[in-house]
Amino acid sequence: MNEVIIGRFAPSPTGRMHLGNVFAALLSYCDSKSQGGKWLVRHEDLDPQRSRREYALQIEDDLLWLGLIPDEKPEYQSERHHHYEESLEKLRKTGLTYGCSCTRADILATQAPHQSDGRVIYGGRCRPASLPCFAPEPEGKHSVRLYVPDREIRFTDGLYGPQTVNLAQECGDFIVRRADGAWAYQLAVVTDDALMGVNRIVRGSDLLLSAAQQLYLYELLGLPMPEFKHIPLLCNSDGRRLSKRDKSLAMDSLRRDYTPEKIIGLTAHLSGIAPTDSPLSLSALTELYAINPLTPNLTARI
Ligand code: GLU
Repeated sequence: MNEVIIGRFAPSPTGRMHLGNVFAALLSYCDSKSQGGKWLVRHEDLDPQRSRREYALQIEDDLLWLGLIPDEKPEYQSERHHHYEESLEKLRKTGLTYGCSCTRADILATQAPHQSDGRVIYGGRCRPASLPCFAPEPEGKHSVRLYVPDREIRFTDGLYGPQTVNLAQECGDFIVRRADGAWAYQLAVVTDDALMGVNRIVRGSDLLLSAAQQLYLYELLGLPMPEFKHIPLLCNSDGRRLSKRDKSLAMDSLRRDYTPEKIIGLTAHLSGIAPTDSPLSLSALTELYAINPLTPNLTARI
């Protein structure tokens, strides 16, 4: 029997959605629904400074307005700490995690930014001399880092094709729990996707490198790996990624100026699924999605 596709949309409730978020939500929905699958919503509200419950509720209302109804009650990461604690315990048992007391300034002082985009690779100052290591983490404030091997991780993205990432060169040992106790995105997202049964992840291409970090975590935690399909990010007319500054494309303006069918039609056109941006119902978009697969060369520019 074929496995049921379970997809999800995982917004960070730090403000109102804009067309870029709607784009990701609609395409992740169509991806699973076009194959008779399920679609879930998870609020990534682990950052207490920036996340607000009212934004999460607003996102749910905006999704509902578009006709995007999740198959289960939305989850909130802020209510799932015990699951992340369990994952961390499993990781500790591999002997590949270690306590790190470096401050950001320490890390910057010892490392040059990654040449392409300013990312900083951790130089390994707190890494034990040999790994695996089961020594207790230091007393006092420290983050927990995960050692990454100097080998290639390979996977095939449903849109961008075969990917080869050497985590030691591309991101270095990464944090799984911050010094202030906050859970790192990578650990939380893998734990949640696995527990929610998500096997198909459709999301923005800014997270393509994260997929390799996440696959490494799936491997260490012994969890079944999902398939990934990263989609190009919507850009404004200057070619910049859409952000909260693009006010006319924020959900409050969109709901005032458009109907859901118009937004769905626009998404179909921007994603290369439909030749024009004529209004479409959600079921029509889902059918078109099944026939016209996405391509990575689309110029998702508005
Ligand atoms: N919460 C992330 C965002 O809003 C998405 C994470 C994911 O889809 O894995 O950008």
